[in-house]
Amino acid sequence: MLKKMIYFFGEGKADGNESLKNLLGGKGANLAEMAGHKNLKLPVPPGFTITTEVCAYYQNKKTYPNGLKEELRESLKKIERIMARKFGDLANPLLVSIRSGARKSMPGMMETILNVGLTEKTIPGLIKQSNGNECFVYDAYRRLIMMYSDVVMEKAAGIEPKEGQGIRKQLEKIIENLKKEKGYSADADLTAEDLKKLCQSFKEKVKSVLKKEFPDDPDEQLWGGIGAVFSSWNGKRAVSYRRIEGIPDEWGTAVNVQAMVFGNMGDDSATGVAFTRNPGNGENKFYGEYLINAQGEDVVAGIRTPAPINESSKSEHNRKLVSLEKIMPKLYKELFSIQKRLEKHYRDMQDIEFTIEKNRLFMLQCRVGKRNGPAAIKMALDMLKEKQISKEEAITRVKPSQLEELLHPIIDPKAELEQKPLAKGLPAGPGGANGQIVFSANDAVLWAKQGKKVILVREETNPEDVEGMRAAQAILTARGGMTSHAALVARGWGKCCIVGCGDLHVDYLKKEIRIGEKILKEGDWIALNGTKGNVYEGKLLMMDASEENKLLKEFLEICGSLKKLGIRANADTPEDARKAKQFGAEGIGLFRTEHMFYGKGSDEPLFILRKMIVSKTEAERKKALEELFFYVKKDAKGTLKAMDELPVVFRLLDPPLHEFVPREKAKLEQLAKDLNISMAELTKRAESLHESNPMMGHRGARLGVTYPEISVMQIRAIFEAAAELIKENRKPYPEIMIPVVCDAKELENQFALIKQIYKETLKKYNLKKIKYLAGTMIEVPRACIVASQLAKTAEFFSFGTNDLTQMGFGFSRDDIGGFLPDYLNKGILPEDPFQSIDQEGIGELIKIGIKNGRKTNKNLEIGICGEHGGEPRSVEFCHHIGMDYVSCSPFRIPIAILAAAQAAINIHADKRKEFKKL
Ligand code: PEP
Ligand code: MG
Repeated sequence: MLKKMIYFFGEGKADGNESLKNLLGGKGANLAEMAGHKNLKLPVPPGFTITTEVCAYYQNKKTYPNGLKEELRESLKKIERIMARKFGDLANPLLVSIRSGARKSMPGMMETILNVGLTEKTIPGLIKQSNGNECFVYDAYRRLIMMYSDVVMEKAAGIEPKEGQGIRKQLEKIIENLKKEKGYSADADLTAEDLKKLCQSFKEKVKSVLKKEFPDDPDEQLWGGIGAVFSSWNGKRAVSYRRIEGIPDEWGTAVNVQAMVFGNMGDDSATGVAFTRNPGNGENKFYGEYLINAQGEDVVAGIRTPAPINESSKSEHNRKLVSLEKIMPKLYKELFSIQKRLEKHYRDMQDIEFTIEKNRLFMLQCRVGKRNGPAAIKMALDMLKEKQISKEEAITRVKPSQLEELLHPIIDPKAELEQKPLAKGLPAGPGGANGQIVFSANDAVLWAKQGKKVILVREETNPEDVEGMRAAQAILTARGGMTSHAALVARGWGKCCIVGCGDLHVDYLKKEIRIGEKILKEGDWIALNGTKGNVYEGKLLMMDASEENKLLKEFLEICGSLKKLGIRANADTPEDARKAKQFGAEGIGLFRTEHMFYGKGSDEPLFILRKMIVSKTEAERKKALEELFFYVKKDAKGTLKAMDELPVVFRLLDPPLHEFVPREKAKLEQLAKDLNISMAELTKRAESLHESNPMMGHRGARLGVTYPEISVMQIRAIFEAAAELIKENRKPYPEIMIPVVCDAKELENQFALIKQIYKETLKKYNLKKIKYLAGTMIEVPRACIVASQLAKTAEFFSFGTNDLTQMGFGFSRDDIGGFLPDYLNKGILPEDPFQSIDQEGIGELIKIGIKNGRKTNKNLEIGICGEHGGEPRSVEFCHHIGMDYVSCSPFRIPIAILAAAQAAINIHADKRKEFKKL
């Protein structure tokens, strides 16, 4: 038996408050807070919230708990008293809205039904209430029929119509036809008589399509609506959204039932959405949009282009429209003061919805506003300076993934200057993108699966498009404002997006768009600048925007002062090292020696390496190694120099040698000629290097055991590079790392070489000391188990989690693509273990390795250099298990710095508890 199932709010009081989000959902908890908190007591229409526990009960038992109906009737009575209207009353009817509201906002993913309680019998009462405004009443009625038939009679009933055949679309077609027939251009042109007829046609259509009458009983509408909202938690698009956002299925949604207030009662009524700061760039300016004589859904659905609420919300696109500040100055002032109080109360940017009914302001919603990455950083820094929040709070205000937006490509400004935009729209999501046009969410998903880059072009998006929006590089819509669905969702994801591009005419049937004379077809390339709202034909050059961002630097400095983990980079060239340092790297955690044989300028060293590989005798090999020495030393020196005094971990050659043997005939011939051997001999030597399972073959430490001269050459190059730098008054700090180690003796074998070359180098350069460390990678499960023995010799461990995951799971890192999708779809694996550390398996191996290693050597330096080192959740894990540093590619360094700082303040302590409870 559930205890309290319904929480009431209204008239300056509330049963709940903001802290009850889990029970009341975000919307319900905030309505209670706005209505009842002593510092707020805002004008919120009275209502009540049915808890998420009732949702869970309803999902499991397919019925409502005992006593709910009675509790609901009592709460409804309270609304009736406050509003002085009665639900279902013929003379003075009360109408209510029914809205969903989960713990975390899921914009547009679940259902809303407005004007519930309006029936053939209560229509005359509402006409009287509205001073005979028949237009308004029949408009409200047709909206109810549309929402109710769509949400309750179709979706909640499990009917799945074909694309474009849903009841909502069919009803919309009736309006379009009527408007065409009468020569109207806007919905507002419809007369009371038109609307009355429309309602009749709607009801007939509903009956003929869904084979059921539209219910004419207020109670039936109310309970139908409540059930449908609960069911929408398990609707297709809500489930998809939850998967993407990682929201647990168990949470459920609450249902909010609230007295209707009307923004569509005439020109003294309005409705709008606003943000206490600009969500697009973070500026501390009240920002929003509104529509006169409209219901809230009109703003969010993007059917009419909304007007700016004030001067600072004006853009190129809505400059000509009159602001709320001008048209209703007194109400604007009231709204302005409310938003100030709300932001101060919540100490974060709020996204608010309001309605003005006959010159009276009502607050319908407030919640922490979604913002893009650049805006998140600006707001966090500003609020810190305004002393609203602490340093620790400031760093929780930005998600590591949002930093990617600042590191994401933009259109090269020079390339953009040379192009004329085809069209302009509202800049809803930042950055730039190139892509091929597709017209449906399904196609976006399909094309993206084939590796194509697509831009999803729609008249307007709705929540059903969410997967396609995710799969697309960017989104472009012809209609909608900055608070439309596409804009909200794209902003949340930091995806490039342009909305309200009015010059764009979309023809889904012909799969083409028309902009003036220009026609573009499906598959044609376009480029978007989501920061400016410009659309271009063709592909444009992209560039990275990150390096010069001052605010990002300031933000990362704060993160740097809080984090405990060191952050290093995986970099293999002096240029990468410099870039890594600019991004804030505190060292290099992995210099893969073999990479100098792949990249720019690698022809010569690669040729010599190949000679070394196919050498038959030690003398031949030594000769080639002597030639190679010059190149390795040059790169080692350049990288050590670029990093100044910071540590640089050089990993000795790792991959199996046959990987370097050329396959082209011309290259083979050149090699044979240089070695002075026949092609037949060369082929024989190359074939002898073949291995059946090279990933577990002759690689890593094993190469150095068989061919010590290969290790010797590299160790000497590193020490001599350091010695020369010391002679130049620098303080290099190399760390030499042996890869793919599985046994202490293997390590001892290689360390003997390190010691010997070290002594020889000191003598050669007449030096007393070169600061260095010698250590090992931990990539083989056995190495974790015998870590206490390895730590007798090794001064540091670096976990190579790419190979450790490969060998721990027995999944080939190169072949996992063949079966991973099945493992993910069938729920066998929650995610790709090569992206985020598998904490319960591979993570346990790492913990064993650390514990055993530190048992022998408590000063052991421990890091990670697998790809996981730049993935936020893995970084958090590395912090909690006591690593000293993580190492990742240069572009992921800012993300790792933020993730490390958030881990240091234990940002997810609550979440961990919460998940355990579930
Ligand atoms: C690893 O195995 O995690 C690693 C960093 O080495 P590589 O990816 O070069 O095998
Ligand atoms: Mg490896």
